[in-house]
Amino acid sequence: MTRDHFAAITTPRGSVVTLTGLTPDEAAAVASQAASDRPAVRAEGEGTTKCDNCGGKGGWLEKVETKTPSGSTVVTERWVQCRPCKGMGTVPARS
Ligand SMILES: [Zn+2]
Repeated sequence: MTRDHFAAITTPRGSVVTLTGLTPDEAAAVASQAASDRPAVRAEGEGTTKCDNCGGKGGWLEKVETKTPSGSTVVTERWVQCRPCKGMGTVPARS
């Protein structure tokens, strides 16, 4: 996936908004900002094991494309929280 002229912003609610039509510098700035805002995922530790449902990510992104009146396409990615692990990425280990 190219990052040129493209950026994804994570909103406080966990949704990811993808912007197009940016300069490479703008896209990089927005992308680095978004990366720092990603929800923290609990590390695998004693008594827990990686969640199989989400692969330890705590959820996944659903992509939604919307056409704007000007004809461009806005891609919105909604963060779907994993139910079995409640978005933590880990579940209690079965002994
Ligand atoms: Zn999970």
